[in-house]
Amino acid sequence: MRISESRAKAEGRAQVRPTAEGWKQAMGEDGRPQLQFTAKARVSQPPVHLADLTLAERAAKLKEIGLPAFRAKQLSVHYFQHYTTDPELMSDLPKDRRAEIAEVMFPKLLTEVKRLATDDGRTIKFLWRLFDGSLVESVLMRYSNRITLCISSQCGCGMNCPFCATGQAGLTRNMSTAEILDQIVQANRVIAEGGLGGQKHPEERVGNIVFMGMGEPLANYKRVMNAVHRMVADAPEGLGMSARGITVSTVGLVPAINKLAEEGVPVTFALSLHAPDDELRDEMIPVNSKWKVDEALDAAFNYYVKTGRRVSIEYALIKDMNDHGWRADLLARKLNARGRGWVHVNPIPLNPTPGSVWTSSEPDVTAEFIDRLESAGVPTTLRDTRGKEIDGACGQLAAAE
Ligand code: SAH
Repeated sequence: MRISESRAKAEGRAQVRPTAEGWKQAMGEDGRPQLQFTAKARVSQPPVHLADLTLAERAAKLKEIGLPAFRAKQLSVHYFQHYTTDPELMSDLPKDRRAEIAEVMFPKLLTEVKRLATDDGRTIKFLWRLFDGSLVESVLMRYSNRITLCISSQCGCGMNCPFCATGQAGLTRNMSTAEILDQIVQANRVIAEGGLGGQKHPEERVGNIVFMGMGEPLANYKRVMNAVHRMVADAPEGLGMSARGITVSTVGLVPAINKLAEEGVPVTFALSLHAPDDELRDEMIPVNSKWKVDEALDAAFNYYVKTGRRVSIEYALIKDMNDHGWRADLLARKLNARGRGWVHVNPIPLNPTPGSVWTSSEPDVTAEFIDRLESAGVPTTLRDTRGKEIDGACGQLAAAE
C-alpha cells in the first residue's frame, strides 16, 4: 500500500488521487509528465508599445521620428498617470502629429470583450482580446483598505495542474511586458471613471498586484520582470507602486525562484505547494517531476534569506486528496525545519472548475488543517477567494467568450 493510503486509513479517511479519478497525465517522449515551457508553434509578439520601453528607450524611439526627448515624458504621463492613449486628449502634443505619435507609441493591446461583476460591483472580471485573438482575463477587487488586481502573464499555461482550469488549456504564448502592464492601466482607468463599486474615485488606483491570473509568471521571466520594474519605477517612467504590494506566485520553478531572489526588487513571493509529500505532489503538480517538494521549499526559504520578505505557501484544500491531518503536520515540520517566522501558509478552499470531480474540503477538516499548522507555530490564514460566481476565482480563469 502506498504511504499516503495507509496514513489516510489510520485517520479513518479516504485518499483520493488525481489519476484515480480519471485524470490523465499527458506524458512526454522522455517518459516524464509533459510540461510546456515554450509555446508550440512560432508565435509573434504584439507591436512594441511605450510600456515595453524604459524612459530612455522611449526617447530614442521618438527621436527616430524626429521628436525631442521631452515628449517621452509627456507621453508617459498620459499613459501611466492619466490612463489615456487617445491622441485627441493629448493637447500638449503638436496637433498635426498627435495621431502619428499615438500610432507609434500606443498600438492597441487589450480590447475588452466582456466584463462581469459580482459582490455589488466590488469584484470585476475582465475578458480581454489581444492583437492575435488570444484571450486573457484579469480580476479587479475592492477591499475596505485596498484595491487588488489579479493579472495574467501568459495566454494559457503549460504547467498542466489537473485542478486548475487554465492549466487544462495549454500554453498559447507569453504575454508581452506591455500587455501585462496594460491590464493595470486599464483597471486604473475603470476605477477613475467610477466603474468599481459605483462612486467616482479619481485619486484611487490599484495598489496591490497578484500574478495569480492565467499563466506561470516565472516561465515568462524576462517580460514579467520587465513589467515588475515598470510597476515600481517612479511616475512617469512607471506606475510608482511599492514592490511589497506585488505578489509573484509560482508553481515552483526552482532556478527562476533563485534568480528572483537576486533581482533586488523585494516583491512578495508565493509558492503553490499544495502537498508536502512528493508521492502526492508528483500527481497534483506535474512540474514536481523536475523540482521536488524539498527543493521548492529550499528555494522559497532562500528567497526569504536573500530579501527578508516573509513568503507565502499556497495550499488549495481538496477534499480527501491533500487535506489530511498528517499532511498538515508534515508541512509544519518541513517549514519549521528551515526556520521560524519566515513563512505563512495560505490555504485556499478549492474552487470548482469545468469537468472536475474534486470538491473543497469540509469546514471541520479545513479548520483542523489550519489548527494543526497554527499549533505548530506556523501562521496560517484561509484565503478569502473572490469572484467564484463569475468564474473569476483562483484556478477558474479559462478565458472563453
Ligand atoms: N502559475 C502560478 C499562478 C497560478 S494561480 C502558480 O501556480 O502559483 C494562483 C493560485 O491558485 C495558485 O496557487 C494555484 O495553484 C491556485 N489554484 C489553481 N486552481 C485552483 C482551484 N481550482 N481552486 C483554488 N485554487 C486554485
